[in-house]
Amino acid sequence: MTHEAGIPLGIRFKLLSDTAQDSAAQVVNDVVVGDYRDLDTLRRFAEGCDVITFDHEHVPTEHLRALEADGVPVRPGPEALVHAQDKGVMRARLTELGIPAPRNRIVSSPEDVAAFAAEGDGFPVVLKTVRGGYDGKGVWVVRGVGDPAAAEPFKAGVPVLAEEKVDFARELAANVVRSPHGQAVAYPVVESIQVDGVCDTVIAPAPGLAEDAAVRAQETALRIANELGVVGHLAVEMFETEDGRLLVNELAMRPHNSGHWTQDGAVTSQFVNHLRAVLDLPLGDPRCRAPWTVMANVLGGDYPDMYAPYLHCMARDPQLKIHMYGKDVKPGRKVGHVNVYGDDLADLRERAAHAAGYLRGTVVE
Ligand code: ADP
Repeated sequence: MTHEAGIPLGIRFKLLSDTAQDSAAQVVNDVVVGDYRDLDTLRRFAEGCDVITFDHEHVPTEHLRALEADGVPVRPGPEALVHAQDKGVMRARLTELGIPAPRNRIVSSPEDVAAFAAEGDGFPVVLKTVRGGYDGKGVWVVRGVGDPAAAEPFKAGVPVLAEEKVDFARELAANVVRSPHGQAVAYPVVESIQVDGVCDTVIAPAPGLAEDAAVRAQETALRIANELGVVGHLAVEMFETEDGRLLVNELAMRPHNSGHWTQDGAVTSQFVNHLRAVLDLPLGDPRCRAPWTVMANVLGGDYPDMYAPYLHCMARDPQLKIHMYGKDVKPGRKVGHVNVYGDDLADLRERAAHAAGYLRGTVVE
């Protein structure tokens, strides 16, 4: 989808991909299949690139530092990106900046987890491996002393972060884009609805969000982007509590699922603005094109061929925007998303949920 954003600008991509079947490898012309964890591969790949950016955050920080030392422009740079790679580093920095977040501490054993709980409001406690998690993988909820979940995260041999389990009213995302010039834009704050730890639906803008809270969320995201020196798209995932607090949960420094709605619902999509920022071009208007946009993720289900259900979805809803990723369908895997925009939120939610369910195979008519 970032490649697609580059086409009208005449920007050519060279892609480092794990396999030739990856989504981006199916559409980019110049593909190198290789391992992003291998510095020699990265160095060879970087030759001839004007600038390097990412669609995931797992390239080792030390390799990115080495590329920078070689003189390769890496955006976002490793000193910013490490805050999206390592939840421990991110939490420490947000504390330093005085940005509200769940109470947290690095822990080293189940006994340590019990001590952390006792220092606060007790259990439940959320444990997270500091690196490598996604879509709820790498996150455990510990309900009390002796809960076997307390031992799980320590098996991976990486540092573990303990957090208070926030009793949030809902999850929000404040998405901003920042360029090396220091220009920045803020998208409307969205609500993100998770099912089984996976993002299911995003509503733009977040329904009923008070204007002062929306501004506070946008200002927080812009401040984080500026303090951390982020270049490109930054998603700041937040918890909103009943009493109106906004606590930062996660950072992502790349086009993000909470920004997929912008492809159809905003004047400039997150992909276009990410690309413009990475190239230090002026940024595009982030405002909404309609009062509401709803994005629903399509998860892999029973259909090995996701294209067969197009007939029904397209005929039922000519305004529906379908974005499929060309991935092999595996149950529960994100294989695409749909967007709808307009004036009637309830109607848009029904249509987005119907299409996502039909494409998955859980809705049959
Ligand atoms: P990842 O995105 O790496 O899977 P997150 O830190 O975003 O991990 O956690 C995944 C989900 O788990 C969040 O979207 C939220 O629903 C829940 N969660 C994470 N941390 C907390 C917390 N401290 N309190 C309550 N729920 C949490």
